[in-house]
Amino acid sequence: MLSRRPASLPLSKQLAPPCFPACFRVSRYRRNLSAKAMSNYAHGLCVWPTAGALPAASSTGFLKVLPADLAQLQQWVSTSPRNLLTVIIALPHWDFRLISALTYISRTCFIVVWHPDATEDPIARIKAFEAGARMVTNDEEHLQEALRLITGVHGNGNLQCPWCGLSGLSTLELWQHQPLYHIYELDKGNVACPACSKPTSRLTRHINLTHGPAPLVDERTGVFALAIIRRPSDGKFLLVQVTGILTVESLRRGMWRRIIFLAEP
Ligand SMILES: [Zn+2]
Ligand SMILES: [Zn+2]
Repeated sequence: MLSRRPASLPLSKQLAPPCFPACFRVSRYRRNLSAKAMSNYAHGLCVWPTAGALPAASSTGFLKVLPADLAQLQQWVSTSPRNLLTVIIALPHWDFRLISALTYISRTCFIVVWHPDATEDPIARIKAFEAGARMVTNDEEHLQEALRLITGVHGNGNLQCPWCGLSGLSTLELWQHQPLYHIYELDKGNVACPACSKPTSRLTRHINLTHGPAPLVDERTGVFALAIIRRPSDGKFLLVQVTGILTVESLRRGMWRRIIFLAEP
């Protein structure tokens, strides 16, 4: 499942430029997505802010380029449920209220936060996802891959996403859409699969394993972490198994970071 997520960011990519180099890249996205002219979905792209960012030519053809204006974006998505919005927030600061506002406009909106600290500030990254962002990155290649996947979903089926309510998905499109849009959301248990109607306690896992191009096997890695603590007063040892992450702390834009794990004896 995680291997299909475009939001992972290798450390080798951290030297990407701190601002979104708009004109050239938007033109590249438009070329990559031009084959989707017959799609049932109308994919619209907004780069926030747009001032001076987009060449006039980018507003024509397959890719609908929309202005960085909440009222106009809301008007466009409300015109048709087939209008699917993608917004790239390329501001120098983290604007969580803007992310929330875009999520409020459309549950199917794919929000990308493009920020130089995408991998250096885990607290801001987590807050962005909590506000509704689908992807936080400063990696050109990953961003382009995500946009390719988004517009690769054409809406040629009759399934509805249980998470965001997007309708018109084919079975394979649901398999593509679910981790792309909802990998950071809670799984759904004790529900019927929208594709095959089978009951499942873990819908995300079921869709991933069952409804892709080929059936997958859920392989267990056996990876886990143990910690041994020695009490100085009597020299006794306590063995604990790490069960989760309690909190992530970051200061000075990631210069100082600490992860506190939760463990049980
Ligand atoms: Zn969805
Ligand atoms: Zn199923």
